[in-house]
Amino acid sequence: MVVLEKNGFVGGRCASYRKHGFTVDYGIHAFSLGPSGPLQEVVRAADSRLEGRSPPLRWQRLPIVLKFGESVFRPALPIDWSHFWNLIRTAGIALSMHGAARSDKFALVKTMFGLLRLKAGRQEPLESLSVKEMLDKLSASEVAQQIIASSADCVSAIPYERFVARDFMDIMFNILKHGGVWYPKGGCGAIARAYSDIIERCGGTVLTGHVVEEIVVEGYPAPGMPLRVAGVRLTGGTETISAPCVVVNVHYGEFYGKLLKPQYTTDTLVKRVTALETALSAIVLHIALDSEIFTEQFVMDSPMLLTKDNYVPGANNAIGGMFVIVSNLDPGLAPPGKQLVLAALGTDIALVREKDNLVQILLEKLQKLAPPPVQVKDHVEWMDVLGPREIESLFGEKGAVIGIASTIRQARSNRLDAQTPIQGLYHCGDDSGTHLWGVGTELAAKSGQCCAERILGKKP
Ligand SMILES: Cc1cc2nc3c(=O)[nH]c(=O)nc-3n(C[C@H](O)[C@H](O)[C@H](O)COP(=O)(O)OP(=O)(O)OC[C@H]3O[C@@H](n4cnc5c(N)ncnc54)[C@H](O)[C@@H]3O)c2cc1C
Repeated sequence: MVVLEKNGFVGGRCASYRKHGFTVDYGIHAFSLGPSGPLQEVVRAADSRLEGRSPPLRWQRLPIVLKFGESVFRPALPIDWSHFWNLIRTAGIALSMHGAARSDKFALVKTMFGLLRLKAGRQEPLESLSVKEMLDKLSASEVAQQIIASSADCVSAIPYERFVARDFMDIMFNILKHGGVWYPKGGCGAIARAYSDIIERCGGTVLTGHVVEEIVVEGYPAPGMPLRVAGVRLTGGTETISAPCVVVNVHYGEFYGKLLKPQYTTDTLVKRVTALETALSAIVLHIALDSEIFTEQFVMDSPMLLTKDNYVPGANNAIGGMFVIVSNLDPGLAPPGKQLVLAALGTDIALVREKDNLVQILLEKLQKLAPPPVQVKDHVEWMDVLGPREIESLFGEKGAVIGIASTIRQARSNRLDAQTPIQGLYHCGDDSGTHLWGVGTELAAKSGQCCAERILGKKP
C-alpha cells in the first residue's frame, strides 16, 4: 500500500505544524465523538491486527459554551432522556442565562424540549427540512434559534437555512449524549501521525511531496467495454505507480475534471459533480501569546458563518466566531507560561477581499473573552492567518471547510458512492459514501472505513 500526499506533511485539512515551540493546527477543530467515534475506531481496528502495538490516540473532552450577543449558555452534559437531571439543570441554566429576555429564555427551553421530542419520533421527515425550518416550528425567538444555530454552523459550515435537519439532529444528539466535543492530545496532527505509523507498521509506505497528476485507466472507452484502473501518474508525467486498486480523496470536481481523462467519465457524472454545492471556507487565526490570558477552552459565538449575502462592507455586521484555546486542552502545544489560541469564522470564498477586516473583527471578539484590563494585542508573540485562498492552495477542495455541503439535495442517499464506474477505482473522504453522515474528519474516517469494506468485499 502506498499513500501519496502532495504536501510536505500528512493530514490534509486536519494537520498541524510547529513554530517557535508551538504546535499549531492548520484548521481549527473540535471532534464530535473523539474516543467513541470513527477516528478512534480506525486505531482500535489496527490495534487488533498489530497485536496491541498501534500508536496511542488520546482525547480531551471540551465543555460546550454557546454565546449569542451577551447571552452565554453552558449546557450540563451529557444530555438525553436517561440523564434526566442534566436536562433539568440545563433548563435551569437556560432560564438563569444573563443578557437574554425572559421570553427568549423560555423559548430556548421550549426549543430544547421540542428537539428532544422530535428526536424520539420518526426521523425520515427531517431529511426534507432544513435546520431553520425545523427550528421555526419550535420557536420564533431569534436568541433561541441563534444559540442552537451556532452549533449547527460549527458542525456543517453552511448556513442553518441550508443544513439538513436530520444530519444536525443525529450529530448534535450524539455530541450531547457523549458529553461534549473532543480534542486529540498533541493537536490535530496527532491523528495523521498515528495513522501514518499504522500504515508503516502494516508494511505500507507514506510518501509526502508526491503530486498525482493523472489516474491511469486500462481498456477502451466504449459502451459494454470494461474499464479498469491501472495506477497513477505523478506530476511531470515521468513516474507511474502501477496499482490494481486506487482510492482517491481529492475534491470530486478535481477527480472527474482533472485527474481522470474526459473519455473515462460521462457527461451525466460531470454535470452532477459540477453542480455540487461545497461548504463555506474559513478565516483562521493562529495566535501565539506570551502569557496565559484565557481560562476558557472552547467558545462558539453565534453567528459563526458569514456569507456574501449577509455581509455589508463597512457596516456593523453581526459576526461571532469559534475560539479554541488549544493549550488549555493540551499544555504541551505551547511553551511553558505561553498560550495558543485558534479563532475562526466560516466565510464565503467570495469574501476573500474582506480578509483584513474580518481578522480585526475576530480579534475584537477574542478581546471580549479576555479578563479586563488585559489587552490581548499587547501579548501577541506572533499570529498566522489562513484565509480561503491559503486553504484552497494547501488542500484544494475549493477552500471548503467540509467538502460537499450537507444540504437536503446532497445528504444521505443523495451522497456520491465510493465506487466509481471504473473497476478498482474508489473515492473516499468527507465528500463520498452514500447514507453516511457526520462532521468533517469523522465523516472522512467513516467514509474510509466503508470504502475499505467495499474493497475487501465485506460490503456490497
Ligand atoms: C478551517 C477548518 C476547520 C475545520 N473544522 C473542523 C472541525 O471542527 N471538526 C471536524 O471534524 N472537521 C473540521 N474540518 C474539516 C476536516 O478537516 C475535513 O473534513 C477532513 O480533514 C477531510 O478529510 P479528507 O481526507 O476527506 O480531505 P483532506 O483533509 O482535504 O485530505 C485530502 C488530501 O489530499 C491531498 N491531495 C489533494 N490533491 C492531491 C494530488 N493531486 N496528489 C496528491 N495529494 C493530493 C491534499 O493535500 C490533502 O492532504 C475543518 C476544516 C477546516 C479547513
